[in-house]
Amino acid sequence: MAYEVPPLPYPFDALEKAIDAQTMQIHHDKHHQAYVDNANKALDGTEWADRPVEDVLRSIDSVPENIRTAVRNNAGGHANHSFFWEIMGPDGGGEPSGDVAAAIDDAFGSFSALKEQVTQNGVTRFGSGWSWVVWDGSGLQAYSTANQDSPLMEGHVPVLGVDVWEHAYYLRYQNRRPDYLGAWWDVVAWDAVGHKLASARG
Ligand code: MN
Repeated sequence: MAYEVPPLPYPFDALEKAIDAQTMQIHHDKHHQAYVDNANKALDGTEWADRPVEDVLRSIDSVPENIRTAVRNNAGGHANHSFFWEIMGPDGGGEPSGDVAAAIDDAFGSFSALKEQVTQNGVTRFGSGWSWVVWDGSGLQAYSTANQDSPLMEGHVPVLGVDVWEHAYYLRYQNRRPDYLGAWWDVVAWDAVGHKLASARG
């Protein structure tokens, strides 16, 4: 079945403390839709068309070369945005607890150290991309990727991630990406991050 944009699990204005409603609407209804449409177009008629998007990205090197860049950008965009909507929420913010907090302490020493690294990776990503926290098979790592590249392409599983494309913040923050990243922590849904980590660990 062709990919579809999943419905946003909260209203457009639910994340106002960090992201304005108009940005959410354009981002979800227009940008994410375009990634889905272009991924479907690229994969149409190939053996990859009915595969889960995560499988396609994990196997990106096996995707035919003539469509690989389009798939990388657009299936990547679809997976990244579907993930992004899930790990934010109106009741987000605060600090992680339980297994997430323990895994963060193991890898980074403290939540404030992780926060600083994810923010810094996002601020310093030149051009467009994402700042991630991933499960690498034995622990957490933080890094950024360019464009719509997914940690799945590296065999990693994203557990936290923030979109630093200008389309994610420009209406409210213009060129102030650090301000957007600073506010973004207030909408992180740590319960959802906990589910991502648990399923990554298997
Ligand atoms: Mn985006």
